Amino acid sequence: MGERIRILHIEDDEVVQMAVKRKVKVDGLPYDIDVAPTLAAALELFGKKRYDIAVLDYMLPDGTGLDLLPKIKGVPAIFVTGSGDATVAVKALKGGAYDYLIKDAGNEYIELLPATIEKVLRTFSLEQEHIKDEEQIRILNKELSKMYEEARECSLHDPLTGLANRRLMEINLKRDIERTKRTDGRLSVLMLDIDYFKKYNDTHGHPAGDRLLAAIAKVLTEEVRGADLVARYGGEEFFVLLPDTNLDGALNTAERVRKAVSGSLGVTISIGAVSYRKEEKMEEFINRADAALYRAKEGGRNRVEEG
Ligand code: GH3
Ligand code: MG
Ligand code: MG
Ligand code: MG
Repeated sequence: MGERIRILHIEDDEVVQMAVKRKVKVDGLPYDIDVAPTLAAALELFGKKRYDIAVLDYMLPDGTGLDLLPKIKGVPAIFVTGSGDATVAVKALKGGAYDYLIKDAGNEYIELLPATIEKVLRTFSLEQEHIKDEEQIRILNKELSKMYEEARECSLHDPLTGLANRRLMEINLKRDIERTKRTDGRLSVLMLDIDYFKKYNDTHGHPAGDRLLAAIAKVLTEEVRGADLVARYGGEEFFVLLPDTNLDGALNTAERVRKAVSGSLGVTISIGAVSYRKEEKMEEFINRADAALYRAKEGGRNRVEEG
């Protein structure tokens, strides 16, 4: 506040133009007023200068004020209608005018102009703030959901390989066990471990070791079915969940995976393969897979053991 208000007065009646100027002078109002006597003149001025508010007459030589309303979005307008013309006032408000004044023979309505200008500017500025706030909220919401997605992704997936992590694997395994709890052999898992990976890291460097982990993840994913879940279980241990798969199927998959890795990546893996036993706890099931893997290592590595 305290700043001068830039007003475009769109009015063809010189008596009214003068009456407004007089009012501003007498009251010492902080207004800078430009006058446009036609729609064309108004549009030209809007193109050239910024105004805080427009006071817009209805009847003008080259059209009506209603024609101008849609072209001055962004500048609040007070509409001035002829007396007794309520339908014009309604149209003006529907067309986006912020308020209206009704002309009278003695131009007494000008007395109401300063208060109306003040009210409209206050409404307009509150609206602008509201729009800004909403935009801010939209941006924050977008950032928030992105952060949420990232956090979710991090907590259930391994960033290096893109595979499910141990948590996600256990969520899925628990669910699959619930489904097959009362049946035998309809759910299998593979536990895999890279052979002599320490040596690989020592020879080629840790970054190369990381790349190998990602490459193995890719091979595993390619070699199993869509319904199977490949997870990074530990540092260099992987886990494959094979729903609706018996031990024979699991052993076949394990063998296929073992060959695919040794045939393409220059390292070998050892695998333990087990099928679910009726009423077995998840921990017991996983421990059997681990024990089978251990036997595969003991038995010379680059092999599959069942348990
Ligand atoms: P084994 O055949 O008995 O499995 O021998 P190994 O050397 O593979 O087994 P061990 O478990 O003793 O060593 C695993 C190594 O895996 C040790 C560690 O440096 C490496 N490792 C674990 N996680 C990562 C990882 O995220 N990136 C890399 N580059 N190496 C890892
Ligand atoms: Mg007029
Ligand atoms: Mg290991
Ligand atoms: Mg290893």
